[in-house]
Amino acid sequence: MKTYQIAVIAGDGIGPEVMDQALQVLDATEQQGGFRIEREEFPWNSEYYLEHGRMMPEDGMETLKSFDAILFGAIGDARVPDEVTIWELIMPIRKQFRQYVNFRPVKSLPGIPSPLAQGEDIDFVIFRENAEGEYSDSGGRLYAGQEGEIAVQNTIMTRAGVERIARAAGRYAEERGLKKITSATKSNAVIHANKLWDEHVRRIMSEEFGGLEFEQYYVDALAAYFVQRPQTFEVVLASNLFGDILSDLGSGLVGGLGLSPSGNINPEKDYPSMFEPVHGSAPDIAGKGIANPVAQIWSAALMLEHLGEREAGGRILEAIEEVLAEGRVRTKDIGGDATTAQMGEAILLAMEKKT
Ligand code: ATP
Ligand code: MG
Repeated sequence: MKTYQIAVIAGDGIGPEVMDQALQVLDATEQQGGFRIEREEFPWNSEYYLEHGRMMPEDGMETLKSFDAILFGAIGDARVPDEVTIWELIMPIRKQFRQYVNFRPVKSLPGIPSPLAQGEDIDFVIFRENAEGEYSDSGGRLYAGQEGEIAVQNTIMTRAGVERIARAAGRYAEERGLKKITSATKSNAVIHANKLWDEHVRRIMSEEFGGLEFEQYYVDALAAYFVQRPQTFEVVLASNLFGDILSDLGSGLVGGLGLSPSGNINPEKDYPSMFEPVHGSAPDIAGKGIANPVAQIWSAALMLEHLGEREAGGRILEAIEEVLAEGRVRTKDIGGDATTAQMGEAILLAMEKKT
């Protein structure tokens, strides 16, 4: 029987709370799916840092390398600077494992009203470039503390980097029978890096994906179109910074952070990919047992799809949709009073009913 090795990093705050629910649901997919999941949990979080002075052991990356995928919760704690949690745990995984696609579905769910869609279903995915672009540590500050203080922050875009994210989006569209790719930049103002993006995305689309419709917008205009006609997009392709902003806007369009999953994907599969909710550790509600586990459970579904278990992933999403459509069990963020555990149980039950 096919066996998948999964590394689990639950992290901080609500991370472990929502992860518990996701792992229950994940385990339940085994019998129906005809595969086995072997998972190992790693306690690499802020508590670990306070004890050991680092976010993961020295051979942490080496350990993770041997897994088929990583299921991640959330990281962030008031006692540890963001630079540490992000640059010592999340960034090394994203960068060293070449997870250059940040994949974020934006999809209407039954019974969750969109503030904007006027009854029409929203269903698109965002391919956010995850390895270069505006989020680089290249730059620096001069004349600290003086009146003439300046900071330089470099945006790095490479032809190879642009080509590979464009290809990943094109292939995804073709595989799923989608028809349209929308690319966003601000190349009238960011004239070096964004022009390079525009030119090479357009070339890849015309040379290799001639069957797909392709459109390019300035990101400011696209933000307005997200509000005015979100139901018209299928695959949205954007750089690191613009993709980040557009995905939170997308998340807001379909019910908020508690419902938004993501994948950090290595399309070549030469290193593990990592799946995590878009939300963070949510210190304001941590420990109360009221966080919405849907984003984490859906992230586990994306992981199964990436591993090739598309049916099993689909079953999880159907179970989520069933529970939301029924509307009886809902956490606070989506207008109910159910606990994290009750929401997780309901989804688990809906899955088990399907056998
Ligand atoms: P971090 O620094 O870890 O990203 P943050 O406070 O910046 O934390 P989030 O943790 O994403 O950002 O939380 C933003 C808001 O959304 C908070 O008010 C939080 O309570 C709410 N929130 C986030 N995730 C969930 C969830 N799963 N269920 C319910 N509310 C959530
Ligand atoms: Mg945050």
